[in-house]
Amino acid sequence: MNIDIHPSPSPVPPHVLADYLADPGFGKYFTDHMVVIEWTPESGWHSARVQPYAPFVLDPAAAVLHYGQEIYEGMKAFRHPDGSVWTFRPRSNAARLNASARRMAMPEMDEELFVAATDALIREDSDWVPSSSGHRSLYLRPFMFASEPFLGMRPARHLTFAVIATPAAPYFPGDLSPVSIWVSEHFTRAGEGGTGAAKTGGNYAASFIAQTEGQQNNCDQVVFLDSVQRRWVEELGGMNLFFVLNDGSVVTPELTGTILEGITRGSIIELLKSWSIPVTERRISIDEWREGVANGRIQEVFACGTAAVVAPVGRLVWSGGELDWATQAGELTRKVRDALTDIQYGHREDSFGWLHHVK
Ligand SMILES: *Cc1c(COP(=O)(O)O)cnc(C)c1O
Repeated sequence: MNIDIHPSPSPVPPHVLADYLADPGFGKYFTDHMVVIEWTPESGWHSARVQPYAPFVLDPAAAVLHYGQEIYEGMKAFRHPDGSVWTFRPRSNAARLNASARRMAMPEMDEELFVAATDALIREDSDWVPSSSGHRSLYLRPFMFASEPFLGMRPARHLTFAVIATPAAPYFPGDLSPVSIWVSEHFTRAGEGGTGAAKTGGNYAASFIAQTEGQQNNCDQVVFLDSVQRRWVEELGGMNLFFVLNDGSVVTPELTGTILEGITRGSIIELLKSWSIPVTERRISIDEWREGVANGRIQEVFACGTAAVVAPVGRLVWSGGELDWATQAGELTRKVRDALTDIQYGHREDSFGWLHHVK
């Protein structure tokens, strides 16, 4: 499919862009362009274009505003020392978008079209990809929503896919200082048979109240437990978890259908295996976590996701107490973070074939 290019008549002036890129924060500034592609049952995906970044014109009856039929992705573009620009495993994002689409009764999209769309936006706005110093990147947000104006109860028949992009500094400021985590005991984010394994906005809407509770308890993030026994560790609001044990092995919660399958998670499992470190995907209870850090069986805990890459966890707080076990990142946590970011920024050979050349 052809992607038409409609360049912006008023791009951000270079000196303003330079200011943005010097201190981008996260999700504050958006690039000059966006991708938009429409879907109807008659035409499939059509009218693909790169157009100036602008608000959507959305009918008040658009189904997404009422029933939340929406899915999204998160991925990054990195600038290498030679100036070239690369994305990380974009086909995995395309495949996951389609898995989310199936769960949310939305149309799938050809993986090649997804990659072409993200590439087209990055090429048009390539000046927005920061230099690699300070682990900056261009964060891409592909998303799809029900744009059909119709209040009936059925999957929408007009969907809009779009990609926007925002320059990003590291998600957690500070050089890998451990984050604190609140155990959500009242609220869960996903139930069996529900949408926990789909990357859909509603999962986040359901988790914000727990995030607020965590902040009131001076925590950076929240860990969700399974909704049935309130015992099994699932994940954070937007990151997966890893536990490094004192026998040198690593455990991560298994994918039970209520956990989002992170691409960072999958990459870390592959990395650990390539280093001959045993990784087990199994259930781990909140008691095993508490007892493990107390008796030394658990040496390191870290969270991972595209935005933060790797975030060490150093403190766990719940309504009845707290445990503090790390003031700095553990050795394996650092090694994993360095390996991933070195590959992403072109400082280490990409022996896994994870990078995709854009420009
Ligand atoms: C996106 C997301 C993750 C992390 O996935 P990555 O592909 O590694 O960025 C983890 N949990 C949830 C709930 C998410 O939405």
